[in-house]
Amino acid sequence: MSDCVFCKIIKGDIPSTKLYEDENILAFLDIMPANKGHTLVIPKKHYETLTDVPVDELEKLTKELQKITVAVVKATNAEGFNVVMNNKEVAGQVVPHAHFHIVPRFPNDGMAFKWPTKKYEDGEVDKFKEKIISFL
Ligand code: AMP
Ligand code: ZN
Repeated sequence: MSDCVFCKIIKGDIPSTKLYEDENILAFLDIMPANKGHTLVIPKKHYETLTDVPVDELEKLTKELQKITVAVVKATNAEGFNVVMNNKEVAGQVVPHAHFHIVPRFPNDGMAFKWPTKKYEDGEVDKFKEKIISFL
C-alpha cells in the first residue's frame, strides 16, 4: 500500500526506531508513546485488521509478539502491560495496517482501560451466545 505509513516504515522511506525485524514482522517504538517503551508489532505484508492476517502469518507474529513483550517489560521494569489492537476506525484504528500495541504499565501512570458497561436484557445472553456460536 503506497500511502500506508507503516508500509513506508517497512520500506525505509520513513525513519523509525526499529527493535526487531525478520522476514515476516517488524517491531518499532511508537512515535507517540502512551508510556515510554510503547512498542508496535506489525506484519510486513499490508493487512488492515487482525482478521485479514492469514493464520500461519498470525502464528509467527504472535510468537514474536510474546518475545518482544517480555523484552519491553524487562527493559522498562514495568509492573504489567497491555497488548492492544484497534481494528477499524470505529474501534480507534488510525493506521489501517494491522498492528499490536505493547504498552508497559506502571503504578499511577495515568492510563485507564475502563469502558462503560452495557446490560443484557432478559434472554439476550442466550441469543448472543447462539448467534456467535453459529458463526464459529
Ligand atoms: P492506532 O490508533 O491503533 O491505529 O495506532 C497507531 C499508532 O501508530 C499510534 O499510537 C501512533 O502514535 C503510531 N504511529 C503513527 N505514525 C508513526 C510513526 N511514523 N512511527 C511510529 N509510530 C507511529
Ligand atoms: Zn501498510
